[in-house]
Amino acid sequence: MTPQIELQNVDKHYGAFHALKDIDLVIEKGSFVALVGPSGCGKSTLLRSIAGLESITSGTLKIAGNTMNGVPPRKRDVAMVFQSYALYPHMTVEKNLSYSLRLKGTPREQARKRAEEVAATTGLTNLLSRYPRQLSGGQRQRVAMGRAIIRDPKAFLFDEPLSNLDASLRVQMRKEIRSLHDRLGATSVYVTHDQIEAMTMADHVVVMRDGIIEQHGKPLDLYDFPANRFVGGFIGTPAMNFIESTIGADGATLMLDGLGGETIALGRKLEPGRAVVAGLRPEFLRVTDEESASFHVELGPVESTGSVNYLSSIDQKLTIVQSERTGLKAGDRVGVTIDPKLIHLFDASTEQRIV
Ligand code: ATP
Repeated sequence: MTPQIELQNVDKHYGAFHALKDIDLVIEKGSFVALVGPSGCGKSTLLRSIAGLESITSGTLKIAGNTMNGVPPRKRDVAMVFQSYALYPHMTVEKNLSYSLRLKGTPREQARKRAEEVAATTGLTNLLSRYPRQLSGGQRQRVAMGRAIIRDPKAFLFDEPLSNLDASLRVQMRKEIRSLHDRLGATSVYVTHDQIEAMTMADHVVVMRDGIIEQHGKPLDLYDFPANRFVGGFIGTPAMNFIESTIGADGATLMLDGLGGETIALGRKLEPGRAVVAGLRPEFLRVTDEESASFHVELGPVESTGSVNYLSSIDQKLTIVQSERTGLKAGDRVGVTIDPKLIHLFDASTEQRIV
């Protein structure tokens, strides 16, 4: 594997504010990496630092093996794609596509041919003579992609490119962007606050919080093995339930203190008396009859989308997702079961995963 983008000990300060803290990250050539995290965690700052739109305070940034500290954006050979498209309203699609080539001095005819090629790749062939105002949101997004592609950059940098689109178009554009990435053999870095987008599009997901990388890995590894409580709660919808618990005196049971203190078998041995937080994914909890129940809760309001039902305990500490329509309602007391292998355990004070 060849690294295409490398960040070593990168810090970014905005005045007194420390926005990126000692970031180490290698993005392999040809990979699609998503940066996710709550608002203000620094994902846009990280992307803009790669683009050269922000200067890093310290550390080293390399693109294709070359150190880029202090190199202006236009000399970095990367292409940004924004949600606002940034198309020129007075230019046709063809001119929008070929503009950057013309700026570099590419002859008119050659730039036009290249615009046609890119239009074919992005499904814009029949729209070359239209103006941006005559295009739909999805078509504008494709022009924005085309403008990035035409420069044959070393990396594509996406800053929430789909957030202006409605839900069904977003799903379609996710697939289009990912398939373009694959066909071009591109390297892509994609900022999104939408973890579903990150999970479905990316080869690797980087989860950030407060200017640090909390975890970096394949989407399903983050889901199956979150490194800490924060990642457990961030990846997965609806969010993981966190229940304050204690390891029983035998070391092999879990007392669910936060849910009334019932005890369930753990299927492994841990230090007796240890204070932990149990992470129970809503989709792995099952409503069951009395005998096989791991624990019991009283239900609050039941919400249904048609395809799934969201049950929550009356104290709101537990959410359960189930697809069967059982006619359960608020006030019912139900038994709940979970496969012990699917229980995540985090240390109560450090919040790190216990393996
Ligand atoms: P969002 O999802 O809301 O876009 P983000 O994770 O992309 O958030 P950034 O835009 O990278 O977050 O901002 C990270 C932090 O740096 C935020 O707390 C923000 O207020 C701060 N910040 C960003 N730009 C500046 C600036 N020019 N001056 C001072 N602080 C800034």
